[in-house]
Amino acid sequence: MRDAECIFCKIAAGEIPSKTIYEDEQFRVIMDISPATKGHALILPKEHYANLYEIPEEVAADAMKLAKKLAKKMTDALQCDGFNLIQNNGEVAGQTVFHFHMHLIPRYKNDGNEDKLCWNHVELSEEELEEIHQKLIK
Ligand code: AMP
Ligand code: ZN
Repeated sequence: MRDAECIFCKIAAGEIPSKTIYEDEQFRVIMDISPATKGHALILPKEHYANLYEIPEEVAADAMKLAKKLAKKMTDALQCDGFNLIQNNGEVAGQTVFHFHMHLIPRYKNDGNEDKLCWNHVELSEEELEEIHQKLIK
């Protein structure tokens, strides 16, 4: 299924040009247009799934296998010092393009993102922690 309005559907199908670093039947992997670091890339499934909730389990598993392969290849090619895999779901979680994608972000010492690609820590009481724990094991 494709979404006629979706820019990542058009890019994945090759209708809009992109700097593609990998392609197979299921995925296209492109350079991010506004990269967090040198080499920031995006794994796009060719089918349209809005997010992790919608993507079939097998396609998500294949995306992760591809991420593993590309992390190695990109690390060798770019000589980066670390690597982030990021996958946002929903506006509140930072998703801006509503076609599932996985960010491949090579990390370098002093790349300026030390305080950005992480999060603040919330203070939770033992009761709050336990309440959440109980919800998650139901
Ligand atoms: P997210 O915030 O997780 O939805 O990520 C969307 C990502 O897509 C951002 O990092 C954008 O820079 C990137 N992006 C948006 N439009 C394009 C495009 N036309 N080509 C390549 N990357 C894009
Ligand atoms: Zn799409």
